[in-house]
Amino acid sequence: MSDKVVGILGGGQLGRMLAASASLLGIKVVVLDVGHGPAKQIIHPSEPHLSHIDGSFTDPQKINELASKVDILTVEIEHVDANALQRVQDEHGTKLAIHPSPWTIRIIQDKFRQKELFLSRGLPISPFQAVDASADALRSAAQVLGLPLMLKSRTLAYDGRGNYVIRELDQIEDALAALANRPLYVEQWVPFVKEIAVMVVRTTQGKVVSYPVVETVHKDNICHLVFAPFRGANADANRRARETAEAAVSCLQGAGVFGVEMFLMQDGRIYINEIAPRPHNSGHYTIEACEASQYENHLRAILSLPLGSTSLKVPSAAMLNVIGASSSMTEITSLANTALSVPGASVHLYGKAECRKGRKMGHITVVGQSDAEVRDRLRPLLEALPSGTP
Ligand code: ATP
Ligand code: MG
Ligand code: MG
Repeated sequence: MSDKVVGILGGGQLGRMLAASASLLGIKVVVLDVGHGPAKQIIHPSEPHLSHIDGSFTDPQKINELASKVDILTVEIEHVDANALQRVQDEHGTKLAIHPSPWTIRIIQDKFRQKELFLSRGLPISPFQAVDASADALRSAAQVLGLPLMLKSRTLAYDGRGNYVIRELDQIEDALAALANRPLYVEQWVPFVKEIAVMVVRTTQGKVVSYPVVETVHKDNICHLVFAPFRGANADANRRARETAEAAVSCLQGAGVFGVEMFLMQDGRIYINEIAPRPHNSGHYTIEACEASQYENHLRAILSLPLGSTSLKVPSAAMLNVIGASSSMTEITSLANTALSVPGASVHLYGKAECRKGRKMGHITVVGQSDAEVRDRLRPLLEALPSGTP
């Protein structure tokens, strides 16, 4: 299929599912991460010189070591060292492809620059502004943008760690204490009715295709449930969401899949929240529910192979994240065991050595012939969630 070797920066669950797809396609993969985490566990080096690398995916030396073993570098996490990636690209020249491009990763890993780029291209972004880490700056931002005000770290954010909702001015000191020493900006509060997401695949030629719109349900800033396809009240919203997501990914460079998170307003307006330059939690459902999964299409895109269809192959699907409620691994396996007796449910456990509150330990995808059937099948799983699940 392709004799090119793919190197993945990061070896968590997204790397694991990429590696699983690669193994089906017979594509060789080398993973760079510390320890023997989720991705390394499921793909064994095919030859001794292609063994996985133990080290940080932000360590320039380790990135160089990975680059010397592979033809294509890709990421399962955007919090990598984009400058190191650019240097590696300059050193290796055309012998090495990096997808998405270091330029794309650099922009996306700074949420403020990401928003500036999309705004400058005429895409729908709700009001935001730069602030320095001072109470005065936040007070004047609140005067312009109103309350609640969403204070965000520009960098290194995930699962809402990096966000602080300022509901009242007297919370400003707490907000600053929580996000001290991080580069900050603020966003106007968006009173959305739904959160939706679209996975977009971009080829090495810059062509973009999208997956169906899904509804994402967050609890405490962490994605909890995904429903596919999204059946909004506004019939036109699906088309506009896909067009917006495709237009946003068209502004970027390099190949692969991108997860586009959006807010849908009561009046049908759509705002882009943020983009991930990699497979995304809201696209896990594609493994069981679409003709080609986001993981397979990521590989096909970066290897310049023909893309697989992004269409649903089932009428309805849902994905439940399995998130640690405590350090108890038994709670996780017990939920997974419940899923074994649910028709249409597929269990994914990520092989993480330890469970922690708020940690993504796995997910369960449920497919069915109708939304009603999927919701019926989901019910026993929701009832079996450990108490204290975030
Ligand atoms: P992820 O794990 O998706 O990378 P993150 O840490 O980057 O998360 P965001 O996506 O910026 O965080 O925000 C997390 C959640 O907070 C959103 O999914 C949404 O529910 C809420 N949120 C973010 N920005 C706003 C806003 N401006 N107004 C209202 N709610 C918001
Ligand atoms: Mg994010
Ligand atoms: Mg997000």
